Amino acid sequence: MPNHALTKLFRPEVLAMSAYHVADARNLIKLDAMENPYTWPEDIQQRWLESLKACPINRYPDPTGSALCEQLRRANAIPDHAALLLGNGSDEIIQILLMALSADATVLAPEPGFVMYRQIARSLGLNYVGVPLATDFALDLSAMLAAIADNRPAAIFIAYPNNPTGNLFDAQAIKTIIAAAPGLVVVDEAYAPFADASFVGELGNYPNLLVMRTVSKLGLAGLRLGYLAGPAEIVAELDKVRLPYNINSLTQATVGFALEHGDFLAQQTQAIRAERTAMAKALKAWPTLTVYPSSANFILFRTPAGTADQLFAGLKARGILIKNLSGQGGVLSDCLRVTIGKPEENQSFLNALAAALAELPR
Ligand code: PMP
Repeated sequence: MPNHALTKLFRPEVLAMSAYHVADARNLIKLDAMENPYTWPEDIQQRWLESLKACPINRYPDPTGSALCEQLRRANAIPDHAALLLGNGSDEIIQILLMALSADATVLAPEPGFVMYRQIARSLGLNYVGVPLATDFALDLSAMLAAIADNRPAAIFIAYPNNPTGNLFDAQAIKTIIAAAPGLVVVDEAYAPFADASFVGELGNYPNLLVMRTVSKLGLAGLRLGYLAGPAEIVAELDKVRLPYNINSLTQATVGFALEHGDFLAQQTQAIRAERTAMAKALKAWPTLTVYPSSANFILFRTPAGTADQLFAGLKARGILIKNLSGQGGVLSDCLRVTIGKPEENQSFLNALAAALAELPR
């Protein structure tokens, strides 16, 4: 079709977007996407495969994933009064929630933050307001409150811990924001397995609070399952927008199985946390790097001014893929983000980084 025909077919906000880019990681050590690097123990894998035989894939899946919801509720201590909504990844939950808002709604989030809040809001033609974080990546509470008063957002997203910065915002500041917000506040706890803080215990204390989680960072990213907990009357509206069979049977069965046999995932999470401590220490040994505190399974670090692209390329040339955030500019200029991998992968990264740093002009 000729280009002018396409421009008539599609909404201008869609034409103006670029697709979410996923880097090609073939033949590289993949430390770019906050995945759990570990596979399953052999015996558990066998039992899982065996259990899948009972999965009726000739039938449509359970439309609400009711059995899985109960397991998720127990595993995450989600109170009985909160309702649950499942999504094909928490990405889909963001999309469901934003699709349900009025056409003239404003979505607000601190920045830098998770890019899908903006990407999905824009794709739906909603207004999006990003509120800059303070220079230490803390929430700028007065800027947030001013932006809330000015824009009256229908939805606010706060990642806790935040991606790509890795820190936990001040809980009191988040509570002040929830109380001041005229609309919904989603506390996105994608990195909860690596943090010792949560707003799940606050569910019920605020009529507009929703807590979103995912099994992706826990080690099940390939299954695509996110969940949202919050007041039943809000979740009921969102559920109208959700496609009936959004969580396939194999995902429902496999997450259920993993939660039942979850000890190994907890052990893997502990190993990743221990490696995070070791990685932070190793990175801090380079005086030219600024290493930011992380409560997630990745570490953000600032490289000497103007060197991030070269260091990123130097790492890639040595077989290591991390995330280069420098191109996003602003406070992320010169910043790289590394996901915590297995000890040997982390060591390969540190060795490659040492070599790439040594190549920089003095
Ligand atoms: N929220 C945050 C803060 C994230 O960093 C991510 C993934 N990078 C997601 C949500 C989406 O996770 P998923 O769709 O895999 O559940």
